Amino acid sequence: MISIEEARERILAHVERLEAEDRPLLDALGQALAEDVVGRFDIPPLDNTSMDGYAVHAGDTAGASPQTPRTLRVTGELAAGYVTHTPLPPGSALRIMTGAPIPPGADSVVPFEETDESALRPPGSNGPLPAQVRIDKVAAPGANIRRRGEDVRAGAVILRAGDVIRPAEAGVLASLGQATARVIRRPIVAILSTGDEVVPPGQPLKPGQIYDSNASSIAALVRGYGGVPTLLGIARDTIEDLTSKLRRGLDADMLVTSAGVSRGDYDIVKDVLAKEGEVAFWTVAMKPGKPLAFGSFPGERRRIPHIGLPGNPVSSMVAFELFGRPAIFRMMGKAGWERPRLRAITQDRIVNRDDPRTFFARCRVEQENGRWVARLSGPQGSGILTSMAFANALAVIPADVDVVEPGAEIDVMMIDWSSGG
Ligand code: AMP
Ligand code: MG
Repeated sequence: MISIEEARERILAHVERLEAEDRPLLDALGQALAEDVVGRFDIPPLDNTSMDGYAVHAGDTAGASPQTPRTLRVTGELAAGYVTHTPLPPGSALRIMTGAPIPPGADSVVPFEETDESALRPPGSNGPLPAQVRIDKVAAPGANIRRRGEDVRAGAVILRAGDVIRPAEAGVLASLGQATARVIRRPIVAILSTGDEVVPPGQPLKPGQIYDSNASSIAALVRGYGGVPTLLGIARDTIEDLTSKLRRGLDADMLVTSAGVSRGDYDIVKDVLAKEGEVAFWTVAMKPGKPLAFGSFPGERRRIPHIGLPGNPVSSMVAFELFGRPAIFRMMGKAGWERPRLRAITQDRIVNRDDPRTFFARCRVEQENGRWVARLSGPQGSGILTSMAFANALAVIPADVDVVEPGAEIDVMMIDWSSGG
């Protein structure tokens, strides 16, 4: 038996970052930048006003108050998108709209609220520009001015290789004038179900048959992690069918099979996998999901890593979470494959007696009265997929813990943070 960490390290040793590609910003969401992004110009490009108001020489407002207002001559007005090169004369003010550049010489902006603007030009009125404006408050030098380059400085590294494109990163790249992002491409992950009893959903079920749930749940996980799933279908437990269906996956970046790695059907799968590439069968110290195969195939461009998941639907999902997720993240150049972990109070008794494996118990974690609380989401058999459906977390019960009593604090791994509370 090998530890989860060892299995993961052995797998990651065979997984490489993929190549870079240029993608339109929206298509690149969830992908990691292939290289650092350097600002080519300052943002904002000029000092500009953060308020609608009057650009002034701060010194001209000394002593201003509602009782002792200062009056300044209005020289004109400026909207965002226009620039003036005319220096602001002493004793005067320029009416200026949010985002408009500060005129040369001015060093402060007095918001409309600190002037008689509302009397001069009631809101909604479109009268002529007033000849003068009353200032009711001392303007501090620099007030309400957004400085050139305060967001982005030309030449500075703004985003780093490996940063994942999220909405804010897409916005930052757009602010730099980029319509595309240079990112690591998404891996194509070929998924093959195996087993004589397994049939695709959508067709009638004969006695003894079951529907292929693994292809759907694993493909959905692949997509959730950022990869592109491609479905190879279902291979019968024969050398010919397994061989021909496996070969269809050789232009993918990773191959994932399910079932056929436990003792019962060991032989055919083992023979085929060993003949087509390299494979090792492992017993990993985890529950559910103990049997795992890992190997590689000579692919069209490089050796393709192959993860052989157990057949039981929950085992295959948990194993793919622990091993497939880091592999996909590595291929995509993304760090942070580890899920958020919380300490939560278990409401149930959880038993892991006489089992030298870490137990990943499906549970639902919610916030109650300011604490995180975990409840088992149903029976824990490795074939009971409905209790996975109701779960948003896996409670991590260490191998050396026999029993956890209700009220005890446990470690939970959030597999669906969005519904975590
Ligand atoms: P095996 O690993 O072949 O021993 O399969 C373990 C269990 O998982 C058996 O009960 C299989 O019927 C079931 N199983 C295998 N493949 C699938 C699949 N694609 N979808 C749902 N259940 C499966
Ligand atoms: Mg089988």
